[in-house]
Amino acid sequence: MGTTAYLFDPIYLEHQTEWGHPERAERLIAIETMLQSKSYYEDLVRVKARKAEIQHIELVHDAAYIRRAREEIERGDEYFDSMDNSVCTRSFEVALYAAGGALAMCDQIMDAKADYGFCAVRPPGHHAERGHAAGFCIFNNIAIAARYLQKEHKLKRIAIVDWDVHHGNGSQHTFEKDNTVLYASLHQFPYYPGTGSGMEKGRDEGVDYTLNIPMDAGSGDEEYRAAFRERIIPALDAFRPEFILISAGFDAHRNDPLAGINLSTGMFGEFTTMLMEAAARHAKNRMLALLEGGYNLDTLAASVERMMRTFVGA
Ligand SMILES: [Zn+2]
Repeated sequence: MGTTAYLFDPIYLEHQTEWGHPERAERLIAIETMLQSKSYYEDLVRVKARKAEIQHIELVHDAAYIRRAREEIERGDEYFDSMDNSVCTRSFEVALYAAGGALAMCDQIMDAKADYGFCAVRPPGHHAERGHAAGFCIFNNIAIAARYLQKEHKLKRIAIVDWDVHHGNGSQHTFEKDNTVLYASLHQFPYYPGTGSGMEKGRDEGVDYTLNIPMDAGSGDEEYRAAFRERIIPALDAFRPEFILISAGFDAHRNDPLAGINLSTGMFGEFTTMLMEAAARHAKNRMLALLEGGYNLDTLAASVERMMRTFVGA
């Protein structure tokens, strides 16, 4: 059991998507309201949101892309790069805060003020590529956090575990030639965004540092538990990460409207426990979960709460 930090800020509600869009501000309100009702809420270390510096966004994204994002979003375009990415004039600024929140939490954990951290931020990140936005994502928050830990905190080996129901194409592409970042993903396959077959294992120096575990639609707790025990945890034990980042999407829940995986709420606690044990073995407990998907508000809030309860040992 360790100290747990939490980051939420009303700034993240200012990224307003079109009516009916699943990735909406209410998601964070549901999470915050749920956590506020818990006795451990007062004990969470609160971390202040901050804006990411452009130089840190450039660790993952092209400078030209960042300029284009600012220009097209701030001039009032309704969509950015894809019809999935509904934006408002505030979205660019909020996206800087989403990445910056992750970096603030990295600092907190590296300064040993917390062992575990959760950032309730949006827009999410794992579909964002080096030069284009996709799948509700503008900047790849988790990829930026991984590079930031290496550059600013001098860590060598970072693991990203992506349990969002969708494959994190942007994260995979960022690190596929890199043997210093292990990217491990479980996701419904074939499904959006189309990448993430078991054959994709990384390239060049990065071969075997990408681990894709495609799951059939209809898979549930049993299949995911086995994948964690037999694939994810052994990969972490072989890699010995100094920090574990979690692309924490909750859209593999059986109640989620976007996909067809059938996890129970309790499974997110089991994932968390298994990763906490790996973080204790290799990473001095250091672990940060960044919100990705999760679109049924009640289920999202309950699943995040299960993860947080596991972090705090409640
Ligand atoms: Zn997702």
